[in-house]
Amino acid sequence: MVRKIAKCCCECSKALTRDEIALSKKLIGRNINEFFCIDCLAEYIDCSVEDLEVKILEFKEQGCALFL
Ligand SMILES: [Zn+2]
Repeated sequence: MVRKIAKCCCECSKALTRDEIALSKKLIGRNINEFFCIDCLAEYIDCSVEDLEVKILEFKEQGCALFL
């Protein structure tokens, strides 16, 4: 059995969802090793959580591979 290590937010150590990981990669860069939860990511890039939620939906609608 392969156990996948859950990724955690590098700021607050909260366990991350697939969407949050994908969003970190999309907005910060694909080669990052540190990921942010949606709250910390909003602070990091200085926008609102609502903006990020909209972005997730947009990326999904665009069929971005990171979000599949
Ligand atoms: Zn966080």
